[in-house]
Order: sequence, then structure tokens, then C-alpha cells
Amino acid sequence: MHIDRLCIVGVGLIGGSLARAARRAGVCGEIVGAGRHAGRLRRAFELGVIDAYDTDVAAAAHGADMIVVAVPLGATEAVLEALRASLAPEAVVTDVGSAKTAVVEAARRAFGAASARFVPGHPIAGTECSGVEASFAELFDGARVILTPSADTAPEAIERVQALWQTAGARVERMDAAHHDEVLAATSHLPHLLAFALVDSLSRREEHDEIFRYAAGGFRDFTRIASSDPVMWRDICLANREAVLAALGGFEADLQAVTRAVEAGDGPALEALFRRAKAARDRYLDETGEGSDGEP
Ligand code: NAP
Repeated sequence: MHIDRLCIVGVGLIGGSLARAARRAGVCGEIVGAGRHAGRLRRAFELGVIDAYDTDVAAAAHGADMIVVAVPLGATEAVLEALRASLAPEAVVTDVGSAKTAVVEAARRAFGAASARFVPGHPIAGTECSGVEASFAELFDGARVILTPSADTAPEAIERVQALWQTAGARVERMDAAHHDEVLAATSHLPHLLAFALVDSLSRREEHDEIFRYAAGGFRDFTRIASSDPVMWRDICLANREAVLAALGGFEADLQAVTRAVEAGDGPALEALFRRAKAARDRYLDETGEGSDGEP
């Protein structure tokens, strides 16, 4: 695996971490960053994450044989359109967006037939922090990366993107884009929505100072992901709207059952629920290992 010129559009947490991991693996000749703010790109350059940068996406991608789009989902289609003019015929383009069906459709609109060289991807790794300062080379070590190619995606393009992620330490799997969106709506998008909604709900109550003063470890654990980037999460909810709505609907029904059990003072029902949930979480920790934090 060798990339002569890797272009990362969006040198933030994910793009910056992938650049660092590719450099660690020694698989790139040159890494060029793109983004809207020259100051942020300069910081990435100073940190040694990228070798060069340009605020013009097309100029940054010129001559690149691999281009990774790592911007918020709401910016993806405009970035793909900006890339179209400067794509070398052999260039492979991939992305890291947390919802995939919308990205696949955007790539078809932006690239037309050339979308065969676009390989949609999603690393199941992250933190609640943003920006290049939060990036680190080890982020993808042992993490899963899901690729959601279509029937018309070029096999050689898929192989190259898979190889890039493997050199970054990740385990690569393939999945249908719609299935990816359903699974991630349940396991990532719903929990983030619940964390944001809970913190917002409590913070808008009159006695919120007191609530937060007496909040303990459980509150901190449950709400850590409410520190995630609001723009990114707005875009994920909009891009994966239908699957998120289905996950919310199913959870609302289950929450009503919990409310009814509390109302009825139904101890056995509550205890049974807590036992099922504890067993499921214990199994999950056994299978994944405590440290493997995958989101969003
Ligand atoms: P981030 O740290 O905020 O980085 C986003 C980068 O995109 C910034 O460097 C920003 O730089 C650039 N950017 C924003 N709008 C742009 C535009 N219109 N044109 C060009 N560059 C633009 O965000 P992140 O956490 O890395 O997330 C990036 C993507 O990864 C998102 O699509 C997200 O769904 C996905 N993802 C995130 C995680 C996670 O845990 N954070 C995990 C898996 C996947 P400028 O401000 O200088 O433009």
C-alpha cells in the first residue's frame, strides 16, 4: 500500500487522526490538508499532521491519488462537487461520515459515473472532542471501519480504501448503506440524542444549579457524549432522519412501559428490566473490551 499524495479535506479529529495514522505507517509521500480556515490548517501543519494545505478544496486535491472527505455531513455534497473538476482519473475518494445513504446519493449527484471511484466509509471510533488538536494516531487502532460500497463501486478503489484503514490499525467490514444507517441510528445516534436531550432538559429547569451541583459519576458517564460537536450532530440527525425517527419511536414506546411500571409500583417488572439491561451490557463489555469506545 502506497499513496503518493493523500488529500484530507477537513483536518479535524477524524481527518487529522487518519493523517497521523497514515504517517505513522509510512504509507504516504505527501499529505495535503484542505478546509475553510487557513489558521486551523496552519495549526495542523505546525503540528506535523499535514505537509501542505490550501483553503481551495480543488487545488488541495489536485494530483492526489487518495482523497478523504472528513467534514461535517452537511458540507459533504458541496465538497464532493468542488472536487469533481480536479479529480485525476485514477484518484480514489472516500469519506468518514456517520450516515451513509445520504452520502452515497450525494456522491452520485456530484460525480455521476465517476462515483464508481467513491468508496463510502465510516470509522466507528471517535471522542467527544473536535479539531486537529484532539487528533491522535492511535484513534483507529483495533477500531471497526465500515465501508458501504454499491454494486457499481470499483473493486480496486474499495481495496485501496480498505488498505488505508488497515494501515491505520482498523478492522474493515463491509455493509449495505441502508443497513449501516439503521444499526448506527440505534447504537450511536439515539444515545447521543438522549444525552443531549437529558442535559438540555435538566439545564432548563429552575433548580438546574442544584441539579448539576449534586450530579455524581453516573450523570457524568451518561452525559459525556452531550459534549460532542452540535453542528456534527445536527447534520447526522438530518442526514439519517428516517432511521433516527424509527429508533426514537421504538425507544419512546419502551420508555412508556418503564413509566407505567414506575406508576404501578411494579417492582418485579423494573427489576426484570434492570437485570436484562445489566446482562446485555456485561455481555457487550465482555465482547468488545472496556476500552473500545466507538462513536458516533
Ligand atoms: P471536526 O473535528 O470538527 O473536523 C471537521 C473538519 O472539517 C474541520 O477541520 C473543519 O475545518 C472542516 N470543515 C468543516 N466544514 C467544511 C467545509 N465546508 N469545507 C471544508 N472543510 C470543512 O469533526 P470530526 O469529529 O473530525 O468529524 C468529521 C466527520 O467525521 C463528520 O462527518 C462525522 O460525522 C464523522 N465522524 C466523526 C466521529 C467523531 O467521533 N467525531 C466519528 C466517526 C465519524 P474548517 O473549520 O477550517 O473548515
